[in-house]
Amino acid sequence: MDASDMGKDLEKVLLTQEQIETRLDEMAARIDSDYAGKDLLLVGVLRGAVMVMADLSRRLHTSIEMDWMAVSSYGSGTKSSGVVRILKDLDTDLHGRHVLIVEDIIDSGLTLSWLVSNLRSRGPASVEIATLLRKPEAAKVEVDVRYVGFDIPTEFVVGYGLDFAEKYRHLPFVGTLAPHVYSG
Ligand code: 5GP
Ligand code: MG
Ligand code: MG
Repeated sequence: MDASDMGKDLEKVLLTQEQIETRLDEMAARIDSDYAGKDLLLVGVLRGAVMVMADLSRRLHTSIEMDWMAVSSYGSGTKSSGVVRILKDLDTDLHGRHVLIVEDIIDSGLTLSWLVSNLRSRGPASVEIATLLRKPEAAKVEVDVRYVGFDIPTEFVVGYGLDFAEKYRHLPFVGTLAPHVYSG
């Protein structure tokens, strides 16, 4: 599939499928070497992280388990406030576990910063973060992200798990939407 398949909805492709896959190879190699000999629990944040989780986890040789959380961030409009509600909690006991949070994108970082403290309070051996995308705004928040795929500009992106009104998650690349899509 390429940008033309989505007709006029997409403005441009920011990251191709090939770029994403190459970067995931590199991230997986680093994770494998950092967690060598350890059991790793990957925690995916629904729903955006589904694609990253699927493609990153399949590149790992480390012994892994997967679990999922769904959170909703209260906020005005498109900005998250950092006030978070758990919609679906983990089924896994985190005591003594090495936890790697898998995210699609960090924008303000407020949701993630809340999530990290929440998971740290459950007695894990470690909590780290892997995200495919990070926006400049994230730098303002005190959250240390160990694995970052790509630093991207402050633009609204879709594809590779990321939605606009629940659409476009299935695109194998990351792109921006044409203005007419927002304006209806
Ligand atoms: P924050 O880091 O601001 O707390 O929120 C991150 C969440 O906001 C992401 O998990 C994602 O759901 C959403 N988000 C932030 N930036 C974008 C973007 O450019 N495109 C899409 N589709 N969602 C975004
Ligand atoms: Mg997310
Ligand atoms: Mg969304």
